[in-house]
Amino acid sequence: MSLYDVLIVGAGHAGAQAAISLRQSGFEGSIGMIGDEKDPPYERPPLSKEYFAGDKPFERILIRPAAFWEERNIDMLLGKRVKSVDPAGKFVTVGGKEIGYDKLIWCTGGSPRMLTCNGAEADNVHAVRRRADVDAMMAKMDSVRHVTIIGGGYIGLEAAAVLTKFGKTVVLLEALDRVLARVAGEPLSRFYEAEHRAHGVDLRTGARMDCIEVADGKATAVLMADGERIETDMVIVGIGIVPETGPLIAAGAAGGNGVDVDEYCRTSLPDIYAIGDCAAHANRFAGGATMRLESVQNANDQAKTAVSHIVGTGEPYNAVPWFWSNQYDLKLQTVGLSTGFDDVVVRGDPDSRSFSVVYLKGGKVIALDCVNAVKDYVQGRAHVLSGAALDKEQLADPTIPLKEVGLA
Ligand SMILES: Cc1cc2nc3c(=O)[nH]c(=O)nc-3n(C[C@H](O)[C@H](O)[C@H](O)COP(=O)(O)OP(=O)(O)OC[C@H]3O[C@@H](n4cnc5c(N)ncnc54)[C@H](O)[C@@H]3O)c2cc1C
Repeated sequence: MSLYDVLIVGAGHAGAQAAISLRQSGFEGSIGMIGDEKDPPYERPPLSKEYFAGDKPFERILIRPAAFWEERNIDMLLGKRVKSVDPAGKFVTVGGKEIGYDKLIWCTGGSPRMLTCNGAEADNVHAVRRRADVDAMMAKMDSVRHVTIIGGGYIGLEAAAVLTKFGKTVVLLEALDRVLARVAGEPLSRFYEAEHRAHGVDLRTGARMDCIEVADGKATAVLMADGERIETDMVIVGIGIVPETGPLIAAGAAGGNGVDVDEYCRTSLPDIYAIGDCAAHANRFAGGATMRLESVQNANDQAKTAVSHIVGTGEPYNAVPWFWSNQYDLKLQTVGLSTGFDDVVVRGDPDSRSFSVVYLKGGKVIALDCVNAVKDYVQGRAHVLSGAALDKEQLADPTIPLKEVGLA
């Protein structure tokens, strides 16, 4: 049985950063990384942006050049899926083989949640999670005119922006009464709805689909609950992910929606850490609520936290959450977590396409969504960190730099 001092399961953002941080911190032990995709770690955000749009080739979205891993003496076991974990024997099983570890870092992300209705299995119903998903869509794109996107979250909206650029007819169906409802306040939702409609997307909220009509294994239409038939050549599903935690939970790790971890990203199993999209942690910026965060920031920062614990410096996870989304010529940057906000201030005029939404809880700034407003994003971070209660009138005035806004 091969044995690694640190074995990383999942060769995505968090896994890559864990290996990088280990070597950067002077760790000289053996490192193995197992990933079920065939490619070395690559950036996932461009899959619904520049890579999908054809603006960046795959080589440019690699997290590190392919040779990096060998140069750092990191064993890459790609195209292999871990089936089980034995925490007592300290090994995982991969394709019938056992691989031992001293410390295990579990960072398997999530699988796209798919539709369960009739027709959901059709050949041209796609998710956007992996390079292979996007390559499969791109291979068919020439014969596609009408695309139906299910889900008005960031991935669905970003895909809609790319597809309109390709000249496709796009219908976007969101079941709730606004897009981005789970992650943002109403002013931001309404702004993006208007933008997409202005770019020709047939964006529908409160949309109830029934099933997918299929002919010869291919989706030909989305049938709505009210009987409407939306003709389609391709369906893209962006309705969230299910964390990939099966083997760890089966091995006895505590968890439900993800694997539970403490402030050092330790699971309830000895010498096993979990980081990234699959890790449920108590987040200081959500008042200590337990949550999974699906962001590059969280993947990278949790990787650093787990590594710091492994090498003995032990910095607890306290990083300020941030996120971004690119749609058309709009760059959204988010800092903090708006979860539980009880008030919002819109700073600037959305019609100018440069504005910010400031989220408050109990009068204190907890998060900002900044659209084409880099200064607000940069200066707002300090307010999120300090939890300052700021003067609302000044906050709403974009001529007053955020760093100069006085206390309430
Ligand atoms: C299309 C898209 C756009 C995004 N845009 C943004 C954005 O703009 N900004 C942002 O901050 N975040 C964005 N995200 C989210 C961000 O990419 C994720 O939060 C990040 O990739 C999480 O890193 P991770 O390492 O936890 O998971 P992943 O990067 O998903 O890596 C997990 C890896 O583990 C593999 N794996 C799973 N199970 C096993 C197993 N049993 N054995 C071996 N390997 C396994 C998976 O196949 C995958 O390769 C986007 C995500 C997607 C899909």
